[in-house]
Amino acid sequence: MNIHEYQGKEILSSFGVRIQRGIVAHNAKGAVDAAKELTEQTGTGWHVIKAQVHAGGRGKGGGVKLAKNLKEVEEIAGKMIGMNLVTKQTSAEGKKVHQILVAEDVYYPGDSEPEEYYMSVLLNRATGRNMIMYSTEGGMDIEAVAENTPELIFTEEIDPTVGIMPFQARRIAFNLGLSGASFKEMTKFVLALYTAYDKSDSSLFEINPVLKTSDDKILAVDAKVTLDDNALYRHKNYLEMRDIREENPVEVEAKKVGLNYVDLDGNVGCMVNGAGLAMATMDLIKQAGGEPANFLDVGGTADAKRVEEAFRLILKDDNVKAILINIFGGIVRCDRVAQGIVDAYKNMGDTIKVPIIVRLQGTNADIAKELIDNSGLDVQSAIEFQEAADKVQAVLA
Ligand code: GDP
Ligand code: MN
Repeated sequence: MNIHEYQGKEILSSFGVRIQRGIVAHNAKGAVDAAKELTEQTGTGWHVIKAQVHAGGRGKGGGVKLAKNLKEVEEIAGKMIGMNLVTKQTSAEGKKVHQILVAEDVYYPGDSEPEEYYMSVLLNRATGRNMIMYSTEGGMDIEAVAENTPELIFTEEIDPTVGIMPFQARRIAFNLGLSGASFKEMTKFVLALYTAYDKSDSSLFEINPVLKTSDDKILAVDAKVTLDDNALYRHKNYLEMRDIREENPVEVEAKKVGLNYVDLDGNVGCMVNGAGLAMATMDLIKQAGGEPANFLDVGGTADAKRVEEAFRLILKDDNVKAILINIFGGIVRCDRVAQGIVDAYKNMGDTIKVPIIVRLQGTNADIAKELIDNSGLDVQSAIEFQEAADKVQAVLA
């Protein structure tokens, strides 16, 4: 689950990571109140107004602006809230800004040498360890750094059973070129950051930039945090951080009915039982010259109701030119699934306007094929994987 910058910072702060302080606001008046309150807390009269959307690259897209007085806070906030923010990570229409973060300006006026670093914590699936990636080249596009000067990106691997060792945090501070007070501050920052990542069951922290002020404070200016959905049951307080306005509406609906659905860009809708088979089916579609329009795992019980729900989700996507149903009848019998498909199809009347290819394999596959073939519906059946692929290819041609 992705969360907003301000929520990510709340989590960081709760584990003792120093952050750029801020208060979230939903309208221009709220922004002015927030700025006044921040000035009381921090003493600074300058603020940055930051659009809260689930997308990076806001700075370049006009979603991060400096306000030097309350009048500017009001003006900038008024314009930013309600706007559609377009960044490199959004679609062409952009994302609607519902709320903003009014934050203290931490780049002191006249500070000639604010240093910006890059730091992320994530799982290295190849080694089964956590890793901290970091670079002196923060603030900007880390993808460009990785592309052009990969030697400027360092990694520190951490054994999750042992946890981070102090010498590892010191090595990071050293590689970032720090010494004296800022070295100590960075060591503390890294240890707190890793602890936060670990204890919050996150799957990604990306802090870009981490800032070193001229008076040697180290703090998180930005925070991209992804929480592990499978661990949310033990962080009930994080559950309310979900902002479904930021999520794909079809995926939200799928979650409600308990279907595992991921929206993709292709033209062939898939309905499959089991994640592994779903992946294989997506490969098959590509081989047949199509592109998967979605990943959809209907799970173990492929009855008429679930099949119908799955149909409805897939058909919301106008790009879908064909649907491939690939079900293995292990626990569930194929003839049952076939009956479910026929019933769902009939229930949905003429809302289904694209050809459907059904491949049922496993218990009672023959009976299932007969059921489909005799249904009189625009559904083609297959038993072999390749046969299904050929039929997909034929309908796309
Ligand atoms: P992103 O563009 O979505 O990654 O948003 P960030 O939170 O990283 O902010 C983008 C840029 O805004 C940063 O790299 C900074 O250069 C700038 N910025 C952020 N906070 C401040 C601040 O307090 N003062 C000033 N002057 N600039 C800031
Ligand atoms: Mn950033």
